[in-house]
Amino acid sequence: VQGETIYRRVLLKVSGESLQGSGPDAIDPEAVSYIADQIIDAHSRGVEVAAVVGGGNIWRGSAAERRGMERSTADYAGMVATIINGLALQDALERRGIITRTQSALPIQAVAEPYIRRRAIRHLEKGRVVLFCAGSGNPYMSTDTASALRALEVGAEVLLMAKNGVDGVYDSDPKTNPEAVRFGNLEYLDAVNRRLEVMDSTAMTLCMDNEMPIIVFDIFERGAMGRILRGDVVGTTIDD
Ligand code: UDP
Repeated sequence: VQGETIYRRVLLKVSGESLQGSGPDAIDPEAVSYIADQIIDAHSRGVEVAAVVGGGNIWRGSAAERRGMERSTADYAGMVATIINGLALQDALERRGIITRTQSALPIQAVAEPYIRRRAIRHLEKGRVVLFCAGSGNPYMSTDTASALRALEVGAEVLLMAKNGVDGVYDSDPKTNPEAVRFGNLEYLDAVNRRLEVMDSTAMTLCMDNEMPIIVFDIFERGAMGRILRGDVVGTTIDD
């Protein structure tokens, strides 16, 4: 399938939720394998793939804060959670023979490389998959914001927002409103102003200010990722 792509380098946001699949545990090995297969499919097309791994399946700082925990500490715990997910995904990729480098925004030398932008780019150029963990390394931020940031830093052409069971951006919640309509295309400002639940506004405005196109899609829809890489219209595209 080499060459069947319009992209040279992409940044994939893998939410913690997608690694949970529909299983009862925080991490479902089958879901992790499936996500790894999607990355490998892209890699086999010659696309350089970097992924930011979320942590919401294990821990969310905002939820812990609501239960009384100090916010920054809660957020650091959330960043640590993303490292656990990163290791699971790294394992699934390497078991399939894909050379993977995991970089962490928080120093944790024994398990992951530190985040070094130029080294990450070098890994990508050498055909390695790069996983970014620990978000941005800062509390009060999300892995969505980290995705926008890393996409810009490594020069990705698109930010692929992989969702678990939702195939794009709707004008209302499709899980509760059967009349909900999916957008094919959205402008950044619309997404921000309508407070659509795509990503938090910090992440969205970072993409808007720096013209990073976003594609929101359901990674569990078979073949969706491959179609995006071929240039087909899938899910919702957000740009200007
Ligand atoms: N987090 C943070 N700074 C970051 C990225 C993440 O503090 O730059 C923390 C935050 O508490 C967040 C948690 O890590 O709730 C897990 O990340 P996120 O909720 O973005 O994961 P996802 O929803 O993508 O699974």
